[in-house]
Amino acid sequence: MTGGQSVPNVNPSDTSDVIDQYRSGGRPEIEAAIEAADAAFHHWARSGPQIRHDVLKFVSDELLERREEIGTLLSREEGKILSDGIAETVRAAQIFGFFAGEALRLTGDIIPSVRDGVSVEITREPIGPVGIIAPWNFPIAIPAWKIAPALCYGNTVVFKPAELVPGCAWALAEILSRSGLPKGVFNLVMGKGSVVGQAMLDAPELKGISFTGSQATGQRVAEASVRRQRKFQLEMGGKNPLVVLDDADLERATDVALDGAFYATGQRCTASSRLIVTEGIHNRFVERLTEKVRSLKVGPALAPTTQMGPVVDETQLETDLTYIEIGRSEGANLRAGGERVRAETEGYFLSPALFTDTEPGMRINREEIFGPVASVLRARDYDHALDLANDTEFGLSAGICTSSLKHATDFRRAAQAGMVMVNLPTAGVDYHVPFGGTKASSYGQREQGVYAREFFTTVKTGYIHP
Ligand code: NAD
Repeated sequence: MTGGQSVPNVNPSDTSDVIDQYRSGGRPEIEAAIEAADAAFHHWARSGPQIRHDVLKFVSDELLERREEIGTLLSREEGKILSDGIAETVRAAQIFGFFAGEALRLTGDIIPSVRDGVSVEITREPIGPVGIIAPWNFPIAIPAWKIAPALCYGNTVVFKPAELVPGCAWALAEILSRSGLPKGVFNLVMGKGSVVGQAMLDAPELKGISFTGSQATGQRVAEASVRRQRKFQLEMGGKNPLVVLDDADLERATDVALDGAFYATGQRCTASSRLIVTEGIHNRFVERLTEKVRSLKVGPALAPTTQMGPVVDETQLETDLTYIEIGRSEGANLRAGGERVRAETEGYFLSPALFTDTEPGMRINREEIFGPVASVLRARDYDHALDLANDTEFGLSAGICTSSLKHATDFRRAAQAGMVMVNLPTAGVDYHVPFGGTKASSYGQREQGVYAREFFTTVKTGYIHP
């Protein structure tokens, strides 16, 4: 992208560290990008599997080769600890690798017609130029799992990353620019959601919008897309339950809860923010988890001893602190953390907050906080725990820790969520299987793996009478 205003990109672990200046586009830049994607569509839609494979493989190989460099940039601009920044870059490489393979496996069906001499061919066609709008919390993996299938199935792309993570978006775009993609097939426009994102929603040329972000923005995407009769998919928030039953292994359950609630500073749509624990294990679970939460080392993302990095920016820090105050005023017991942490650098550090003695109706149990804040709810038995787990407008991920096959099997069936985990954190997913939720968390077709084809293609039935 060229043009636009210059905006600093600040490191949340050290606010004196300005990583770079990036260009924030306006209407002229986004209009040019949409026009380019529209002009390139006809040609790319007719491209063969080999070039699509080669492009995606190139991106995969380069992300893998440069995982330390890009992972470091990711950690510096978003605040994930370095090992997670590198792991996320590897995951993005794996996603591009998966779709490089898929490009060679594009299939259709030939079906005998009920009419003599006629044959029927059912094919998958790309949907057109598509808009991809991404959040900041997985700045390379989420764009990868949208961009790779979009290109694989012959769509052209206008990509708008979140304002807080321009560096990762730029790194990905730079690699794509050298991948052999024809001009105009992939376009990056950085800028404000209210300007660049909104212009994408208003553009009739974009035949699909793939969005991940907050519920409020998702609602806008839905309204604008319905008006324009375009395809759209939404991945939004979560208030994910982790049920811990009396028969769970205590060490394992507390590890699962710790990871689920606080990995990536709790800034995951799949974070285990509600820990629903049955009577018989409740007190031991709270004691052990509190010890583990208190011992988590909070600090700068790139410091080797850090286990939990900063929250992403000042606004998110204020939101987290406000919710911690709300939890207290609602009568919940702040058992650990919830305070600003001073580190060697000036950053947005917050100690992981654990509330106990909470009630289902409290705002901390109903609203997505999107930070390192988790609450424990007490349940009488499995049935009560299941009711509490499902007592939310969201339905992204749900987990259970138990040694009972009966309860694990029942929970897998009865939990109202798109993803269900047994003895695993609610977060932490594979890159080649469907991702997405139910209820207010998601709308439209699933992301990732071969299921991504459902969104990025449309079915065409051809009747041929030679
Ligand atoms: P956000 O909705 O503020 O922003 C997401 C994207 O939308 C950004 O690129 C933003 O610039 C853009 N945007 C903002 N206003 C817009 C508008 N009017 N028109 C078009 N685009 C606009 O969300 P965020 O703060 O970046 O991300 C956090 C949210 O994302 C959380 O709710 C989290 O749960 C959710 N999330 C969901 C998933 C999932 O897969 N379900 C994954 C990651 C994050």
